[in-house]
Amino acid sequence: MLKIENLHAEIDGKPILKGLTLTVNAGEVHAIMGPNGAGKSTLGYVLGGRDAYEVTEGSVTFDGDDLLEMEPHERAAAGLFLGFQYPVEIPGISNVQFLREALNAQRKARGEAPLSGGDFLKLARSQADALGMDQEMLKRPVNVGFSGGEKKRNEMVQMGIIDPRLAILDETDSGLDIDALRIVGDGINRILRKPDKAVILITHYQRLLEYVQPDFVHVLADGRITRTGGPDLAVELEREGYGAVAA
Ligand code: ADP
Ligand code: MG
Ligand code: MG
Repeated sequence: MLKIENLHAEIDGKPILKGLTLTVNAGEVHAIMGPNGAGKSTLGYVLGGRDAYEVTEGSVTFDGDDLLEMEPHERAAAGLFLGFQYPVEIPGISNVQFLREALNAQRKARGEAPLSGGDFLKLARSQADALGMDQEMLKRPVNVGFSGGEKKRNEMVQMGIIDPRLAILDETDSGLDIDALRIVGDGINRILRKPDKAVILITHYQRLLEYVQPDFVHVLADGRITRTGGPDLAVELEREGYGAVAA
């Protein structure tokens, strides 16, 4: 599904990714762990197509197509979803308005008709329910005044509505209390644990991986994957630290 080969990327002339290689097949859950500043969020941004990042070497294909040649909205239309470490607040736009536009932009790109207001509300409400998010939050401006945990939950609601094929979730577990962590973990499983879908979980902690069992755990250090293992590697990392394990 996703094939990253020898990826090099820089920002403001500073090399961050230095030869990253990773293959993600349909049906797989990959966890990426690694020290601060290793380039984890950079990987997400490069895959999402954020402007400031320049790819200097290597390739990325999604279903065999050159992902790096695609505009961000084309990547989204192809089924890629990015969950951010720091979800943005958008004052002046209600959550439900935002979610509807996000979904309909994608449907349009796929040549599908937009959902009617009524059908959309039904979908949004069912997703909010599934994530234990208060319906009232659908009416509020996007993420404004939401707690850290509410923003992450909201992001999962968005993901449920969009129903992507490949999600890259950057520290979706940071700032979540234990109940929210379980709810978000259940959401990830419900939406993405399917034979035709895949997920890359960027996380610092093993706890999310107790809810969303990874098939592979990778260590990203200094811009490349330095180690790959199974779920046990996450436990080992938490016990021993990155210094000991990833060096
Ligand atoms: P991680 O998510 O693994 O903690 P990031 O991908 O966010 O790491 O950052 C990787 C490195 O890129 C860090 O050292 C960070 O300081 C650096 N970086 C990010 N943005 C810029 C920028 N605009 N200019 C220079 N360096 C940057
Ligand atoms: Mg970080
Ligand atoms: Mg980061």
